[in-house]
Amino acid sequence: MDARETLSIETEEMRTIVDVTDRIADAVPSGANGTCTVFVEHTTAAITINEAESRLLDDIEDVLADLVPSEGWAHDKLDMNGDAHLRSMLLGPSVTVPVADGDLAIGSWQSLLLVESDGPRTRTVTVTVQ
Ligand code: ZN
Repeated sequence: MDARETLSIETEEMRTIVDVTDRIADAVPSGANGTCTVFVEHTTAAITINEAESRLLDDIEDVLADLVPSEGWAHDKLDMNGDAHLRSMLLGPSVTVPVADGDLAIGSWQSLLLVESDGPRTRTVTVTVQ
């Protein structure tokens, strides 16, 4: 069984991390087995898996800020968001997780995290179960 669903996810700040685990889990058909690919259709947002603990989310933001200075990029001459593209490139646009009996088979401390780097925006995320 293949299934594909498209989600719209609102972000409320320029840089923020949104726990989308429940939204993704709801998009997985009941009884499905296989893999679930979560794909962010953008170049300035990304998805990753980690613990959705508020201090850790702050740490993730701090690491990204340390790795990618907020200005001085060639792309800034076009639309002033070079850092958002580069932050997203480091994390990547997709994750794939196992699905068992309609549930995401992820660890108890793992959450799917949408990392917004150029919000607030409405982000399109596809969930494909195969
Ligand atoms: Zn740009």
